[in-house]
Amino acid sequence: MAKRLELTEKHKEAIRAVAGDPDMDFSKIVAFESVAASTRPISQRSSPYNGAQMTEAYLRQMSAHLKSNPVTLQVMHDDYTLPTGRVFMADVFAAEAGHWDLNAAFYLLATETALLEKIDTSIIDEVSVGTLPKHAFCSQCEFDYMTEPYRLYYRECPNEHELGKDGVHLRLTEMSTWTELSLVNRGASSKAKILGAAKQRLGTETYQRLAASGAEPDLAFLFSAVTLAPQKPETNPKGDVMDPTLLELAATKGRLESENKTLAAELTSSKAALETANTQITELNTKLVAASTATVQEVETLKASQATFTTFLTAQYKSACVAANLTEIPNATPEQMIAAIDEAKIVLAAVPRGGVTKPADSNEPAAVPAQLAQAAHYKSPR
Ligand SMILES: [Zn+2]
Repeated sequence: MAKRLELTEKHKEAIRAVAGDPDMDFSKIVAFESVAASTRPISQRSSPYNGAQMTEAYLRQMSAHLKSNPVTLQVMHDDYTLPTGRVFMADVFAAEAGHWDLNAAFYLLATETALLEKIDTSIIDEVSVGTLPKHAFCSQCEFDYMTEPYRLYYRECPNEHELGKDGVHLRLTEMSTWTELSLVNRGASSKAKILGAAKQRLGTETYQRLAASGAEPDLAFLFSAVTLAPQKPETNPKGDVMDPTLLELAATKGRLESENKTLAAELTSSKAALETANTQITELNTKLVAASTATVQEVETLKASQATFTTFLTAQYKSACVAANLTEIPNATPEQMIAAIDEAKIVLAAVPRGGVTKPADSNEPAAVPAQLAQAAHYKSPR
C-alpha cells in the first residue's frame, strides 16, 4: 500500500474540484501519483516521437489544461471502454540535470480491487499520457511537422533530416490538448514507476520540506508516450501513433481492399455483360434458324416458279423456231430464247396449228400455238 496517496487537504480540494462534488466520499476512492511527462528525451522506439523532447512550457501547459479540462484515467489507452479513473492534480517540478517533470495524481474506485492490487504490487506501474502537440519542430531545421503531419510517418522533414538518425528528434514546444493518462504494461521508459510514498510531491508536506531544504529528492520518472489526436491521418482509432510497419501494412491492406472491391465490381458487371451477350446469341441463333428455314422455303418456291417459266419459255421458243424456221440452239439460255422469239417476229395469229410459216410481210396476226394459247389462258383466266 506504500504507493497509495495519503490524501491531504490539498488532494481532497483538487478531487472535489474535478469531481464537482463538495461532499465527495473519499472512502470510496484510492489515489496514486505518477510522473506523467518529462523534458527528457522520450524513449519509444516504434514511434516517430522516439527521442522527442517536451519543453518545460509544454509541461506547464498540461498542468494548466487540467484545471479546466477533464483528463481521464484509462487502461492501455483503450478509449472504447469507460474511464477507470480521473487525473485530479498535475504540476511541474524540477528534476535532476536541469530537467523538468510533470507529476500527475489520479484516483480510481476502491472497488477496482484487481487493478489496485496490481498497482500496489507493481505488476502495473507504468503510465503514459495521451497528448497532442501544437508544434513538433525538427531539431535540425525548425520545420514544424504539425504543418504536414503525414511527414511524421516518413520520419523525414523536407530538408531530409531523418528523425532518429544522428540525434535528429522532435521538439515539442506547445501543447494542443491533453486528454488522458493511461495505465500501460510498459511505458516509454524502463525506469518509469507510479510513485511510491517517498517520491510523491503533489500536495505533500514531505516533498515541500525536502525541496525547501535544497535537497533534490531522488525521483523516479516516467517518459510518457505522446500520441496524436484522432483527427490526424494514419492514426489508429485510439489516436496512437502507429508503428510505421503497421502503417504500411494498413495502407497496403486498404489498397488491396479497394482493388478487391473494384475487381469484384468489374467481375459482376462482366458476368452481367456475358449473360446479356449469351442471351443475345441465343436470340440471334433462333432468328437465324427461323430466317434460314424461311429462306429455304422461299428458294423452293422460287425454284418451282422458275421451272414453270422455263417450261413455258422453252415451249414458246421451240414454237418460234418452228414458225420462223430458226435453228434451235441446244440448251438455249433464257436470253437466247427471248432473242430468238423477238427475231422470229411471230405473228401469232398467222401461224396455223400445223406450224406452217406465214409470209413475213403479212399483217395478219399469227395463230397462237396450242401450248402458248393454253399458257396464256392459264396466265390470264377470264
Ligand atoms: Zn529538418
